[in-house]
Amino acid sequence: MKTIIEPFKIKVVEPIHMTTLEQREDILNEAHFNPFKIPARDVLIDLLTDSGTGSMSNLQWAGIMKGDESYAGAESFYHFQKTLRNLTGFEHILPTHQGRASERILFELVGGPGKIIPNNNHFDTTRANVEHSGAEALDLVIPEASKPNLIHPFKGNMDVTRLEALIKEKGRETIPLVMVTITNNSGGGQPVSLKNLRAVRAICNQYDIPLFLDACRFAENAWFIKQREAGQADRSVRDIVSDIFELADGATISAKKDGLVNIGGILLLRDQELAEHAGALLILTEGYVTYGGLAGRDLEAMAQGFEEVVEEDYLSYRIRSTEYLGEKLKAIGYQIIEPPGGHAIYIDAGHCCSHIPPSHYPGQALVCGLYRTGGVRACEIGSVMFGGNGKAPDLELVRLALPRRVYTQSHIDYVVESAAELFEQRDKLIGLRITNSPPFLRHFTATFKEII
Ligand SMILES: *Cc1c(COP(=O)(O)O)cnc(C)c1O
Repeated sequence: MKTIIEPFKIKVVEPIHMTTLEQREDILNEAHFNPFKIPARDVLIDLLTDSGTGSMSNLQWAGIMKGDESYAGAESFYHFQKTLRNLTGFEHILPTHQGRASERILFELVGGPGKIIPNNNHFDTTRANVEHSGAEALDLVIPEASKPNLIHPFKGNMDVTRLEALIKEKGRETIPLVMVTITNNSGGGQPVSLKNLRAVRAICNQYDIPLFLDACRFAENAWFIKQREAGQADRSVRDIVSDIFELADGATISAKKDGLVNIGGILLLRDQELAEHAGALLILTEGYVTYGGLAGRDLEAMAQGFEEVVEEDYLSYRIRSTEYLGEKLKAIGYQIIEPPGGHAIYIDAGHCCSHIPPSHYPGQALVCGLYRTGGVRACEIGSVMFGGNGKAPDLELVRLALPRRVYTQSHIDYVVESAAELFEQRDKLIGLRITNSPPFLRHFTATFKEII
C-alpha cells in the first residue's frame, strides 16, 4: 500500500520560528515552567492542543466572506442549522462560542448540589462545569482504559455494569443525565463503540435517564467504528455518525475539534422545553439564539467544516498521521497509550520518568523537557491537570495533540527526533513543585519551580 498522504495542497503558509537551546531555557524560566505561558511565537511545533488550531479550507475561507452579520435570523445561521440537522438529526441547534459555553448552559440547567453526572471520562472543562454547578462528576470508563499498553479496540467504552450499579445505588433522581465523551479525550482519545453506546442507551431507557454526548470528535470516533467494529466496514462515516447521534437526547460540541474551525461550539437538544431554557441562558451570556457567541462568518465556516470532517480521505489521513507519530515514539522506547487515539498520542510520563513521584509532576517535567530539547509544546494530563483535590490520577500522561491539516510528515519527523534526544537524557529530567495555583483548571495558569 502507498503512503497515506495529506489530502490537500498548501495555499497559504505561516512562518514558524527557530530558537536556540539557551533561548528556550530562558523562555521556560520566564514561563514558570508552564508551557501555557510560553508565547506561541517561541514555539516551533505546537502540539499543546488540537482545539481551534486547525487550518481552514479554501471553501471555509470563502464562507468567511459570505457570512451574514445580521443580529437575528442571519442567512449563515440557517445554513449552519440545516447542515447540523442533516448531520445529527437534532431539532434544536444552539450555537455557542465554544464547547465549555454549551457545558455551562447544560449543567446550569440539569446540575446542582446532590446530583451526579456519570461519564466515561469527563474532560477537564466538563468536569469543572459539572462541579461548578455543585454536582459530582464521576468517571466510569472500562477498567481496560487504565492499562496503557493493553490493546482494546474501544478503550473509551463506558463500564455499563458500574453505570447500572450506580443508578441502583444512588437512585435515578440523582442522575439528571448520563454523558459519554466521543472520542474519550482525557482517556487517551480512545473511541467508543456503537455497541457500547447502544448498551448505555438501553440502561438509560430502562431507568428513564437522558443520554448526552460530549461529541467534540464524533467524526474521528465514527472512523474508528468503521475500521474496528464488526459489520461497520462497508458503511459510510455519515451513516455511522447518524446512528451515533440518534442514540442521544442531546450533545455538547466544541467545533474547534471536528468542526474544523478556530472558534465555535454547539448545544444540540431534542427536548423542546429544555431547548427553551437553554435558549434563555444562551441569550443571557452568549448572544441571541441565531448567533450564540459567534459572528455570522464563523457559522458559515462551521457549516462547511462539519461537511469536510466526514470526508473519508480526510479521516483516513487524520487517523493515520496520529498513528504514525505513535509508532515512532513507541519505537524510541516511550510507553504510550495503545492503540494510538484519534487526535493525539499520550505518553506515559510515569513510566519514562519513574524517578519523579506524582507529587513532583513527572508529566510537567517531560513537557518542559520536550520544549527545552526541540521547541515542541505538549500538554500535561496528569497530577497537574487532575490532582488539585490531592488525589493523583491513575496515569501521569503527556499529550501530543495534532492540529488538523497543519503539520506535514517532516514536522512530525522532527518531533520524533527531539523526543528521541530527550529519551536518551530522561534520567536528568527534574521534578517540579507548584508555586502558585488558581482554585480550578489550575493547569492553565499555575506556576512551577524545579526541585533542585
Ligand atoms: C475541547 C473539549 C471540550 C471543551 O471545548 P472548548 O471549546 O475548549 O470549550 C469539552 N469536551 C471535550 C472532550 C473536549 O475535547
